[in-house]
Amino acid sequence: MDEFGLIEEFFTRPARRAEVVLGIGDDAALLALAGATSTLAVTTDTLVEGVHFRPSAPSFDVGYKALAVNVSDLAAMGARPLAFLLSLAVPMADRTWLAGFRDGLFTLADAVGLDLIGGDTVRGPLAVTITALGSVAPGAALRRDGARPGDRVYVSGQLGEAALGFLLRAGRLSLPSRFHESVLTRLDRPWPRIHEGQALIGIASAAIDISDGLVADLGHILKASGVGAELDLRRLPLSEAYDAAFATVGYDPAIAFGDDYELCFTVPPERVQALAGIAPHPPCGFHYIGDIVAGAGLTLRDGQGVYTPAQAGYNHFDGPAPL
Ligand SMILES: [Mg+2]
Repeated sequence: MDEFGLIEEFFTRPARRAEVVLGIGDDAALLALAGATSTLAVTTDTLVEGVHFRPSAPSFDVGYKALAVNVSDLAAMGARPLAFLLSLAVPMADRTWLAGFRDGLFTLADAVGLDLIGGDTVRGPLAVTITALGSVAPGAALRRDGARPGDRVYVSGQLGEAALGFLLRAGRLSLPSRFHESVLTRLDRPWPRIHEGQALIGIASAAIDISDGLVADLGHILKASGVGAELDLRRLPLSEAYDAAFATVGYDPAIAFGDDYELCFTVPPERVQALAGIAPHPPCGFHYIGDIVAGAGLTLRDGQGVYTPAQAGYNHFDGPAPL
């Protein structure tokens, strides 16, 4: 059983309330309160020590990233950040650790305009759960189920940087030292594409953030939309650092590792021109990597022909944890 099978078997059921516009199965749920002029986007994520971050991770980075992964889900819905709740389990009240954690948390909260409005604090194995709330105009949210044959597939930024950081730190990759800081920063302090997500409203037909790897996350769009896709891997936006590692690692870290927190989205041909009018902030670029097709499944091609990654993406309860 993987995490998605677990959710489907035990927790997926029809919503009973009319206020639930969108329930389980997207980057965030959507709630429309009676009389409200905005729809509420709600998402939650848990980071567990030893699973999502190493025990020696600086607490600043733990706080920053715990919030960043939630903000990235709001970004994928096109939502504007409003507020968040923090549930923190810590083995003891270590002031130094807590101060660093707080600083990392509020650095990002201030940067994207989120207020901390509540939560819970308990003693236990170190784990951080954040629930983030955002707002979006009624009917405007970017969802996973809107991709149609003929739409183009895009990604923001560059893929595989966090994977290189992970491999570097694990001693599984040698990389020129001038690239070390950038790949480790991409792993530890991802910048969620919150401005781009909002700008893509009315342009993108579907969107998701890349947390489990492009292959897995685009796969969610394909499944929800009932379509397939063909990607040309030679179009993947790869950094100079990635180019330096490519001969050793190939395409897989860029498509099947995750932790990128870039956006993957689809755009109908008639709206492609509007995409050029968006100025990403900070600059990251939008890259056309392939097309949505009728049918099902994802076909990857490189210069040689059809390409099959060794591993399709990170999935809890299914394979070893990526420590
Ligand atoms: Mg997501």
